[in-house]
Amino acid sequence: MKIRADDPRYRAVVDRQFNKRFTANPDYVRLVHSADEVVSALQEAVSERQRLVVTSGGHCLEGFVSDPDVRVIIDVSPMKRVYYDRHMNAVAVEAGATVGETFRVLFDRWGVVVPLGEYPAIGMGGHVAGGAFGFLCRQLGLAADYLYAVEVITVDERGRAGIVVATREASDPNRELWWAHTGGGAGNFGIVTRYWFRALDATGDDAASLLPRAPESITTLRAEWSWSDVDHAGFCRLMQNHGVWCEQNSGAGSPNASLWTLLEIHRQQFGKIIVRGVSTAGAEAERQIEAHLEALGAGVGVPAAKELARMGWLDFALNPLPDLFAAPPSGVSVKVKDAMLRKRLTGRQIDVVFDYMTRTDSDVMGGVFGLATYGGVVNTVAPDATASAQRSSILDTACNVGWLDPADEARNLAWVRAFYRELFADTGGVPVPGDAYDGAFINHPDTDLADPTLNTSDVPWHTLYYQANYPRLQRVKARWDPLDVFHHALSVNHRDTGARD
Ligand SMILES: Cc1cc2nc3c(=O)[nH]c(=O)nc-3n(C[C@H](O)[C@H](O)[C@H](O)COP(=O)(O)OP(=O)(O)OC[C@H]3O[C@@H](n4cnc5c(N)ncnc54)[C@H](O)[C@@H]3O)c2cc1C
Repeated sequence: MKIRADDPRYRAVVDRQFNKRFTANPDYVRLVHSADEVVSALQEAVSERQRLVVTSGGHCLEGFVSDPDVRVIIDVSPMKRVYYDRHMNAVAVEAGATVGETFRVLFDRWGVVVPLGEYPAIGMGGHVAGGAFGFLCRQLGLAADYLYAVEVITVDERGRAGIVVATREASDPNRELWWAHTGGGAGNFGIVTRYWFRALDATGDDAASLLPRAPESITTLRAEWSWSDVDHAGFCRLMQNHGVWCEQNSGAGSPNASLWTLLEIHRQQFGKIIVRGVSTAGAEAERQIEAHLEALGAGVGVPAAKELARMGWLDFALNPLPDLFAAPPSGVSVKVKDAMLRKRLTGRQIDVVFDYMTRTDSDVMGGVFGLATYGGVVNTVAPDATASAQRSSILDTACNVGWLDPADEARNLAWVRAFYRELFADTGGVPVPGDAYDGAFINHPDTDLADPTLNTSDVPWHTLYYQANYPRLQRVKARWDPLDVFHHALSVNHRDTGARD
């Protein structure tokens, strides 16, 4: 059934989109409950030559779903089953389940986990295809590393929609389509209706043994430094200490792979410097966290307002670090500019961060620089084994800004763009893969990377996201979405010959 603007369900789909910077305005939306319903909805839109997109959880950071040119939104969020599939010998998760809903069933039924992302309301449909990192990635890898198979509704060269199942089995003729869903990014190849998960080294046919055991317990940390206690020299020292810790503790064999942290530097006018942590080290967690804080605070001073809490895995996973993504009921507009680092920031870059966080010529309230620890088991996988190419990073960083009043958009965007450009000034304003950087993560898409006035590196956006995997993704695109039915501002383009587009 076509749900139009006079139906409250239309608004529910349109308003679910997290980033209020963009507003969808489709002619109608479809709520679909099965792969067959997706085939019908897709076929109808394609036959009518309507521009369409699919949504699952609504957590796109760019306007790929909330695009004014989109006429039809197909919403798979009613498809939420999570179950053991005997035929596949894998755990099936329908694309409309959220990360939180998936964590809950995995834990309640089998005591297992897939290392999904950090926010329970994210939809599995858009999340997993982008690789998907989270609190447990340093010890378990990416969620996509556990993907065994995917069910996708594709459109062939004659415009006919059909169901395809692709597995990682070497003998599967559809294997490349599976590979493209291990980090190739959502919204590129078709509509995912189901993912199946099983660890690469799993044996037996007991669902509880197919995926990693959930952590015994979680210990969380929140501590902060007040800007009044941190001068320029102290800030440089803190950043240096943090970078050194990440360089020394991001190997898969590190005893600190069980500790994930996020250093959040909020603008001095409005905030603090906050460190958050999540440890699965059980009885050792407190000692591990104290050692981490000592390493960070050396020559700077211990952080104030330290809070440690221990809880069960599911309690944590369903409400992790509660104020991390807190937003007012009417939502927030955001711009996130992601960069993966292979090394710590240089002294020049730390000065840039200090400048943008302390300068008083712009009152950008929601400006934050975040540094999340990365690496560990993620970096044990070859860059071409999955489509997620970032396999040598020690940090996932982001220049972030958020605002409430649409009138504030221009100055917030100007601030965050200038900050990022100066941070990566040595490589054309973007984190060009090389000795120091590993590009950017496609689950945090940033359309600025395709803008030649903001990316002056001569390295195209798709190399930043996909590196050497892009030509292979283009071949998958040509095979499975030859008409380019599924496209957005950063979608894989099989017609591109390699020059910047
Ligand atoms: C608050 C917040 C926290 C986040 N934390 C993390 C994190 O910890 N780790 C991480 O890896 N990412 C994280 N992300 C990014 C998130 O994983 C991606 O934005 C993801 O694409 C969201 O998927 P969705 O289904 O919720 O979004 P949607 O807005 O519904 O879709 C996003 C994109 O995926 C496409 N898509 C959606 N469903 C399907 C489907 N069924 N088949 C094919 N394409 C589909 C859409 O067309 C669109 O292009 C976070 C995002 C937010 C806003």
